[in-house]
Amino acid sequence: MARITDPDCKQCRREGCKLFLKGERCLTKCSFDKRPTIPGVHATGRKKVSEYGIQLREKQKVRRAYGILEKQFRNYYEKAAASKERTGWAMLKMLELRLDNVVYRMQIASSRSEARQIVTHGHITVNGKKVNIPSYQVKVGDVIAIKEGKQKLEMFASLKEGKAVTPKWLEFNTESLTGKVLALPEREDIDLNIQEHLIVEYYSR
Ligand code: SF4
Repeated sequence: MARITDPDCKQCRREGCKLFLKGERCLTKCSFDKRPTIPGVHATGRKKVSEYGIQLREKQKVRRAYGILEKQFRNYYEKAAASKERTGWAMLKMLELRLDNVVYRMQIASSRSEARQIVTHGHITVNGKKVNIPSYQVKVGDVIAIKEGKQKLEMFASLKEGKAVTPKWLEFNTESLTGKVLALPEREDIDLNIQEHLIVEYYSR
C-alpha cells in the first residue's frame, strides 16, 4: 500500500506545527520543540508567502496529519464539494470517520500510522466483521473492536491498564476492548488547528 515516505519530524518542521505522527514520542522527545525551523539550507530568510503558498501549506498540513496521499485527498475534496454540506467541513468529517482515524481516536494506537497498520493487519472488526481497509468510513452506531484472538497481542496489553480518553462522539471500553461510534464528530472535536476554507480555495482555483 502506498504511503507518505517523508520522515515524520521533517513533515512537522515543514508545516511549522506538531502533527503528532510518532505517537508517544511526540509527547516526550519531540524534535520540533527543539528545532521548529523549516528543513533545508535555505530555510531562513524566505520571502513573504503568497496566497497560493498559504493554501498549499494548509492542504499539505492536513494531508500529512491524516497520512493521506494527494490523489486520495483530492478525492475527499471532490466528494465533499458534491455534497450538500459546507465543503471544508464535509471533507474534515470524512477524514475523521476513516477507520484508521477512529482507531487512533479510541487510543487503540498512539498515532494514525500505527492505527493504519493495526487495521491493515486485520486486527480490527466493525460490527463483528474483520475490516482491513484504513479508509473505511464508519457510521453512527458501528461497534469497533479488537478482533478476538488478537486481544492478547503485546501491542494491546497496556490498553487494559488505563482508561481511554476519547472525543465525545466515540467511546472505548478498555476491559472489553470494544468501542462504539456514538455520534458524528462536530467541528470542535477536531483538535488540530485547521483552516479548511484554505484547502477549499486551493482546490477550487
Ligand atoms: Fe512531529 Fe511527533 Fe516528530 Fe514532534 S516527535 S516533530 S510532533 S512527529
